[in-house]
Order: sequence, then C-alpha cells, then structure tokens
Amino acid sequence: MLTYDFLLVGAGLFNAIFAREATKQGKKCLVVEKRNHIGGNLYCENIEGINVHKYGAHIFHTSNKEVWDYMNELCEFNHYVNSPLARYKNKVYNLPFNMHTFYQLWGTTTPEEAEAKIESQRVKIDDPKNVEEQALSLVGSDIYEKLIKGYTEKQWGIAATQLPAFIIKRLPLRFTYNNNYFNDPYQGIPKGGYNPIFEKCFSQCDVLLNTDFLQNRHLAKEAETVIFTGMIDTYYEYCFGALEYRSLYFENEVLDTDNFQGNAVVNYTERKIPFTRIIEHKHFELGQQPKTVITREYPQAWEIGLEPFYPINTEQNNCLYQRYKTLAEKEKNVFFGGRLGGYRYFDMDQIVKSAIELFNNMKLHNREN
Ligand code: FAD
Repeated sequence: MLTYDFLLVGAGLFNAIFAREATKQGKKCLVVEKRNHIGGNLYCENIEGINVHKYGAHIFHTSNKEVWDYMNELCEFNHYVNSPLARYKNKVYNLPFNMHTFYQLWGTTTPEEAEAKIESQRVKIDDPKNVEEQALSLVGSDIYEKLIKGYTEKQWGIAATQLPAFIIKRLPLRFTYNNNYFNDPYQGIPKGGYNPIFEKCFSQCDVLLNTDFLQNRHLAKEAETVIFTGMIDTYYEYCFGALEYRSLYFENEVLDTDNFQGNAVVNYTERKIPFTRIIEHKHFELGQQPKTVITREYPQAWEIGLEPFYPINTEQNNCLYQRYKTLAEKEKNVFFGGRLGGYRYFDMDQIVKSAIELFNNMKLHNREN
C-alpha cells in the first residue's frame, strides 16, 4: 500500500496550486523541496518588517478572471500598480514607453508630436537581423540608445548586435499618459507577501525541506504519481546535455532611511552600471517602516549549480528540450510542470492555470479508466 497519492517535487507555485486541488479532493501529498523554505521563487524574507522578494520582484497580474478569483480565495491583494521607472545618466523616464516618456525625452506634449518624432528616428529595415536592428526599426534611435540597448545587453551578457532579433518581438508604444506597466485588468501584491499562500496550500501535506529529490529518488516509491517541477534535464541526468539559462544574483542592503528611490522598481539602463535594476521592496506594500531594504539585481551567466532564472529559448535549446519532453511523455507516473519542467518563462497566472488543468485532466483520465 502506497503512503501518498502524489509526491510533489518542488514547493513553488505550480505544486502549491496542485496540492491545494489534490488535498481538497482528499488526496495525500508529500512535498520535497531542496531549499530550506516553501514558496519557490515567490518566497519573501522578512527584513526590518518588510517583505523582501528574495528571488526577484513578483507582481501578480492577469486578464483571466477565473485565475484572479481563485487567487483571491488564497489571499487579499492590495492595489499596487506596477509603474517602473528607467534611469539613464541621472535622468528618470517613465515606463512602459508612453506620453510621459516622450515628454521626458523630447518635450513633446501631444500624441501627434510624439508619433512624428518617433517616425523621424525610425530606421527602415525590412528584415532585422538582430536586436539593435529590430529596436531601431520599431522605436528609433533615442528610445533604443537610452532605454533599451544597455539594459538588454546587461540582461543577456551580449552586444545587442549579436542578440537574435526574436528576443524583442514587439516594443509597445503608448500614446496615452498611462504608466501602468501591465495591460491586464487585474494586478496586485498579496497583503502580507506571498508566503501565507504557500502555508495555506501545503497545510494538509507532509513537507520535507532541504531534500533534493535527485539524491532521494527512492521517495518516488512512496507515491502513486510524481509531479516534478525541477529542471527536466536534471531528472534525466543531462543524458542529452544541459539546457541553458540566464541567472541572476541579488545584493540586499538595509538603509537607515524610510524612502530611498520613491518607487518599487527602477531600471538602470546604462551599460556601465553593472546591475539592471534596484527594487525597493516596501513600496510593493505601501510600507511605512522606518527603514528600507533595497536589492540590486545583477544578471549573470548560468552554470550548473547556479539558480536557473530565465530559459534561453534558442532553436538549439528548444530542440534539446523537445528530446527531453519526448522521454517525459513516455512516463506513466511522472508528470512535469512549472517553469523548469516546461523550460519556458511563465507568468504566475499561467502557472496557476496549468496546475489546475493538470490536476483536472488527471481526475478525468482516472475516471475514464
Ligand atoms: P519555482 O517557483 O521555481 O519552484 C520550483 C521549486 O522546485 C523551487 O523551490 C526549487 O527549489 C524546487 N526544486 C527544483 N529542483 C528540485 C529538486 N531536484 N528537488 C527538490 N526541489 C526542487 N511572474 C509574474 O506573474 N509576475 C512577476 O512579476 C514575475 N517576476 C519574475 C521575476 C523573475 C526574476 C523571474 C525569474 C520570474 C518571474 N515571474 C513572474 C515568473 C514566476 O517566478 C513563475 O511563474 C513561478 O515562480 C513559477 O513557479 P514554479 O512552481 O514553476 O517554479
């Protein structure tokens, strides 16, 4: 007799939602997590009474009403609206590119003036070969040079002329005075941070922290089905080779001031400044604490052992992933989920939707057999 219905590898958002659905149906789950905490990349560390997003700033946003309602059963969102700023040579610009940005760049005050300015700077390139050509053809030279070039080069660690054009598919320009970064109708930060969501979702599960499944594969024998949200290539011991990622590292600083930059997110778009952005966490929750905590975010090359933050979806890596996926599809009792299992960047709302779908599909499948 097996002890558990599900062994959930990884205590991130995907498995949290899966666990919630499974335990609602009376299923027994064992969660194994290699870190010393649940929450995956949404984990918040409390420093000076401030919820510090330890693995990068996370703003929940969605246009899916069902997902929004689902999340609102798990937490109460505040009214945070993401309105990042860009800093270039000590000048500050609003993002995403909108009428405020155009005014800050050129002093234009009407959409007509701004459109004419951009049009005059656009370079006509029929088949852009790299990010530089792509951006110049979409938004012209000023926006590219001041707000895109340095940031993108730092993000990827390569010159914009060497980066494939597909990295920038679109560069939306807004001809309204609207600094709201997301177009989605629903967004916010859970009041009190993300951790309580995970405590709720895993409350009916057994949880083993500091446990790497790959070193404890025998645990799979305890459960009927394994849901694996780690890196798919690690599950198969890199038998076809390692998938590539971009990594990040974070430098936190506690400052003896109540307000350092007046905004949660400020991007630094100059190439010579080594970090890409500074996050001031208290502003996510409209915090009134006497001190503040800031995080400088530095992109770095990934190697085995470092945190894999962003999959690099080149054609070569996608082909490699397909080979692993073919192996995965042959598994009877192992399912791969989440951003690392699927080797794709997913926003949180997509993760929530896909975890619910996986559980429902399994239920259906079991009923049919
Ligand atoms: P994870 O959160 O990574 O969880 C996987 C867990 O599995 C981890 O805890 C890991 O330690 C564990 N694990 C891995 N291998 C093993 C193993 N072998 N044994 C045991 N445990 C293992 N989305 C948004 O919607 N809004 C945002 O603002 C946003 N900002 C982001 C910022 C950054 C820097 C990044 C990288 C992503 C951001 N995202 C954002 C995306 C969001 O982080 C993901 O959608 C979400 O974290 C995916 O959840 P997950 O469960 O798939 O993965």
